[in-house]
Amino acid sequence: MPRRRPTSSLWHDSPGGPRAGHSLGRSCGLANDPAHAARPTVSAAPGASWCSRPPRPGWEAHERVAVASSWFAVYRLEAGVFALYEPHQAQEVISWLILGEESALLFDTGMGLAPIRLVVEELTRLPVVVLNSHTHYDHMGGNAEFQTILALDTDYGRQNARGWGHDVLAGELDPQAFCAEKLPGFDAAHYRIPPFRATSFVVDGQVIDLGGRQLEVLGVPGHSPDSVALLDAAAGLLWSGDTFYEGQIWLYFPGTDLDAYARSVRRLARLAPGLRRVFPSHNTPVAPPDKLVALARAFDRVLDGAVASRPSRDGLVEYPFEGFSFLMRGPGPAS
Ligand SMILES: [Zn+2]
Repeated sequence: MPRRRPTSSLWHDSPGGPRAGHSLGRSCGLANDPAHAARPTVSAAPGASWCSRPPRPGWEAHERVAVASSWFAVYRLEAGVFALYEPHQAQEVISWLILGEESALLFDTGMGLAPIRLVVEELTRLPVVVLNSHTHYDHMGGNAEFQTILALDTDYGRQNARGWGHDVLAGELDPQAFCAEKLPGFDAAHYRIPPFRATSFVVDGQVIDLGGRQLEVLGVPGHSPDSVALLDAAAGLLWSGDTFYEGQIWLYFPGTDLDAYARSVRRLARLAPGLRRVFPSHNTPVAPPDKLVALARAFDRVLDGAVASRPSRDGLVEYPFEGFSFLMRGPGPAS
């Protein structure tokens, strides 16, 4: 692979969570305008290789499902719930296929590095609708492969639906972030996220009936204006998108709203007593619901000024907690 200039990688070291063997961890976020995209410093350990790194702890407890794709690692978390994990790219993004009796919902479509629809079609013959947890590029890469796409109607989402150009994405293919040998024949020079068109809009509180499974759309703005979570109240399941995952939660991009994020994480925390499992969109597949309570408390403490931060790159600061952290703008100007 030709050397590429450092570009807008979203990946970086993560806080002291369950990440033995991983010096890189998820991130996420992204400006919807490439001119605003971050230019963080690559922070991989010297000699780190995505190809030789062992699976992130947490996945081995779950049932691996064989698929033809060499790129996606598919796991069945429980009946009708599949994680489509991309372990060989530093985002370690997770798209979720959720089955009902009559139709299926694909919550995110990944990085767009390999066809995801083919994987979905191996797992179900049901008609599939796509809904994105939000429209940062690591979650909508495969949208264009699908016919039916639900979306929140936001200016932010409309902008991102135009796709993402190669300049914004090239850093994701840095050899320290991307195991090219797991994706033979990949055309790195032309990697981009194609545009998509939403076929219908959803709103906060709307219930999507898959037949035998009802999913409520929860608008949880903060990480981005168009962030949503999905609630299967009957089953006690919540898909949290990038509002919560184990790792470094990015809260500094254009479009991030800290007050909205505080309200959203409090809302999710209130759901915790009725939940069995939380399924995030990066790194590890399952978190216990009480993590949502810890998340909301932690963020309130940050807003109250009760937590010491540590400096991070580019003038940003990080607020560390058990298994996750918040990466935010510091008192000085972030570059
Ligand atoms: Zn993300």
